[in-house]
Amino acid sequence: MPPARAAPRRCARLAAVLFDRDGTLVHDVPYNGDPDRVAPVDTARPALDRLRAAGIATGVVSNQSGIARGLLTAAQVDAVNARLDELVGPIGVWAWCPHGPDDGCSCRKPAPGLVLDAARRLGVSPDEVAVIGDIGADVGAAAAAGARSVLVPTAVTRQAEIDAAPLVARDLLHALDLLGLPDGSSSAPLRLPHP
Ligand SMILES: [Mg+2]
Ligand SMILES: [Zn+2]
Repeated sequence: MPPARAAPRRCARLAAVLFDRDGTLVHDVPYNGDPDRVAPVDTARPALDRLRAAGIATGVVSNQSGIARGLLTAAQVDAVNARLDELVGPIGVWAWCPHGPDDGCSCRKPAPGLVLDAARRLGVSPDEVAVIGDIGADVGAAAAAGARSVLVPTAVTRQAEIDAAPLVARDLLHALDLLGLPDGSSSAPLRLPHP
């Protein structure tokens, strides 16, 4: 009989938080290409400030299929992103997918590509990353990349996606609470149980 061995509780430091954009950091305006229509949710700026104060990297991971659908240009997406960065930034890294659901790309959430790309560009390991989003595809992309996630549902989030999410928060600050993130007054290293 092999010697009994206690399963180690694998922990990873939280090094980066990646946010979905539409319906998470900003009130969703479908296929928005107009910087003037960018309206951050109330907790976007406080949550990002808290992360910056704690020395945690930030990023955005966003599906922008409006490009594949011919409803948006890349320049419009860049302009909307720049406006959001002006309102709540600076955000550390931007990663977005221009493809449609039928393109078979590796970046459109729930595929892991955007999360992996953002983690690589931030110089952190995916298991040091948490993704915060409003739908199941955000949770799925995190899981596929080996990252943690918190779902912050909106009125249009499907109940099945809420039921399936590992962590569900009422807003972005609550999501950081659930991730064990200290408030802005502390920069102590954070260690969290691995999923
Ligand atoms: Mg969303
Ligand atoms: Zn893609």
